[in-house]
Amino acid sequence: MRILVTGGAGFIGSHLLDRLMKEQHEVICLDNFYTGTKNNLQKWAGHPNFESIRHDIIEPISLEVDQIYHLACPASPVHYQYDPIKTMKVSYLGTSHMLGLAKRTKARFLLASTSEVYGDPDVHPQTEEYHGNVNTIGIRSCYDEGKRIAETLSFDYHRQHQVEIRVARIFNTYGPRMLENDGRVVSNFIAQSLQGKPLTVYGEGTQTRSFCYVTDLVDGLMKLMNGDHIGPINLGNPEEYTILQLAEKIRDRLNPGQEISFKPLPQDDPRKRKPDITKAKTLLNWQPQISLDTGLTETIAEFKQRLAI
Ligand code: NAD
Ligand code: UDP
Repeated sequence: MRILVTGGAGFIGSHLLDRLMKEQHEVICLDNFYTGTKNNLQKWAGHPNFESIRHDIIEPISLEVDQIYHLACPASPVHYQYDPIKTMKVSYLGTSHMLGLAKRTKARFLLASTSEVYGDPDVHPQTEEYHGNVNTIGIRSCYDEGKRIAETLSFDYHRQHQVEIRVARIFNTYGPRMLENDGRVVSNFIAQSLQGKPLTVYGEGTQTRSFCYVTDLVDGLMKLMNGDHIGPINLGNPEEYTILQLAEKIRDRLNPGQEISFKPLPQDDPRKRKPDITKAKTLLNWQPQISLDTGLTETIAEFKQRLAI
């Protein structure tokens, strides 16, 4: 198959791309390199099945493909809040261009949506039926509402034009190739511990998240794409930790005795998050295999190599 991966130079996209290349598909990566890097694509440069196109998806593009994994969108709060209007344009215009492409080519289209569509949830753990608690005017709204409209658009293309869609609601994912300065919690804590800096915990660290290792996530995305269920389907690891627990876990492994520095909690930071993955288990026969300890070991090893520590 010829498979388009938007955002293929990014963290999750590049791991997905590696899997698709290993399965001997023809793969096109579409990326404007905002948060993605050419390093992530280096090993495929010159491979006859691989093509990389520098393109901003807020502009249309014409390609011939069989499947589209649509991941292009900055995912870290630091990056999506840097230019929130652009984030909204990527979510709406970018997604509508990719759905238009899917409609014309009859390609199957998978949207990388997010647990952020649940906002600061008052249902716990979050099931796909929960409609969410999202602030429409806060600093996270460009991303949260952007993904919500991307879901709406996907379902309307499905109902109105019979586009074959798949919608994944991805929960916090971590692993090798996260940018060390992208501001997300796992990369921050690892980089800070390795560099001998205090670990920055926002608020009191009582908020919770559930962390999925990237190869598990990629496996879930591919099962969803190639299965019969359109979703939305939660993909994430239901093991839940407070942020303080995560800080202590990483600190104690890398730099015991390092100070934890408490910083103000950002506006609208969700207080808790944990996926209900019953649907993924029963409909996709998927559940995460990699524990946080094992995943951290892999991630830390790659960070050490990259940061030359
Ligand atoms: P990332 O920032 O590493 O990757 C995003 C990629 O999209 C980058 O390569 C970036 O350059 C590219 N991109 C951004 N704007 C673009 C544009 N206008 N045109 C073309 N390319 C553009 O983030 P990630 O963690 O790999 O996330 C990938 C997708 O998964 C995103 O859609 C994100 O919303 C979703 N997601 C990720 C997580 C997570 O925990 N990592 C959780 C939920 C959802
Ligand atoms: N966080 C933190 N210190 C950091 C970075 C993040 O305490 O250096 C917190 C953040 O406030 C949030 C959680 O960790 O409660 C996860 O943040 P991240 O940006 O990784 O993902 P998201 O908030 O989008 O789930």
